Amino acid sequence: MAAVSFEFFPPKTDEQREGLARAATALKAHAPEYVSVTFGAGGSTLSYTVEAVRDLLDRHGLVAAPHLSCMGGTREEVRRLVDEYRDLGVRRIVALRGDLPSGMASFGDFRYASDLVAFIRAETGDHFHLDVACYPEVHPQAEDALADLANFKRKIDAGANSAITQYFYNADGYFRFVDAVRRLGVDVPIVPGIMPIANFSQLRRFSEMCGAEIPRWLGKRLAALGDDAAAIREFSADVVADLCRRLVDGGAPGLHFYTLNRAKPTLAILERL
Ligand code: FAD
Repeated sequence: MAAVSFEFFPPKTDEQREGLARAATALKAHAPEYVSVTFGAGGSTLSYTVEAVRDLLDRHGLVAAPHLSCMGGTREEVRRLVDEYRDLGVRRIVALRGDLPSGMASFGDFRYASDLVAFIRAETGDHFHLDVACYPEVHPQAEDALADLANFKRKIDAGANSAITQYFYNADGYFRFVDAVRRLGVDVPIVPGIMPIANFSQLRRFSEMCGAEIPRWLGKRLAALGDDAAAIREFSADVVADLCRRLVDGGAPGLHFYTLNRAKPTLAILERL
């Protein structure tokens, strides 16, 4: 079985905190290489990520990796946050650009994820393992697929150690992306991001925002299952487990699950592997 990692979002309420604790406890049985915690944009949301990372480290004994985006603010604010993570014992960070929430006019001091990677490297040397994002189906704002590839390479050249992909349901797109990246001389591990399917309308909404494609056959099958949650669960766990199997058999170095803080959909896939 390939290495697995699990992504969580930082809880903001006690109910959500209990949800994350339940998910972390259940998923820990699968011995993740690390778990990561996403990062919202600006203000108070910063502290939620720190709080969740501390909890996953101290209470659950997991290797926790915070996401950090260019929305983390000024150079000074990012420096403080990185120092805080170092003091907590964090050794891994997922460095991103992030997206501007509507109504927010500008980024912080960093424009692209490559700038953030270069800054963290310059500030902290080799202390952190740095992951970055990549897009086998092309980032929605990229000028074109080749420009997106060149921009991805920029992040590796700036000092990133490995990459996690946006989720996808088409294994061939992943393999073609990895081939293209290798031809550019980039040899870091490219770990597929895996999105379990629990709720089709939510998945459709997410996918429209982030540019991930739901293959027509998959969308049609899910739509036909309507509100039958149990049938959707079984069908989609079979489909996503098949995808994972193809990826791992084809050489994917690990699997990163977008859990949305729910253990069951991810466990249903892992149990099939
Ligand atoms: P970048 O690598 O900076 O790229 C952004 C766009 O700019 C791309 O179109 C790229 O081609 C282009 N570009 C890059 N460099 C240049 C350049 N020098 N000149 C011109 N164009 C350039 N978002 C959050 O807010 N919080 C999270 O915790 C979070 N976690 C994520 C985890 C993963 C694994 C993934 C795949 C995404 C995550 N996201 C998160 C979403 C991510 O922030 C968005 O997809 C965002 O739009 C792009 O981030 P990036 O780091 O890939 O950006």
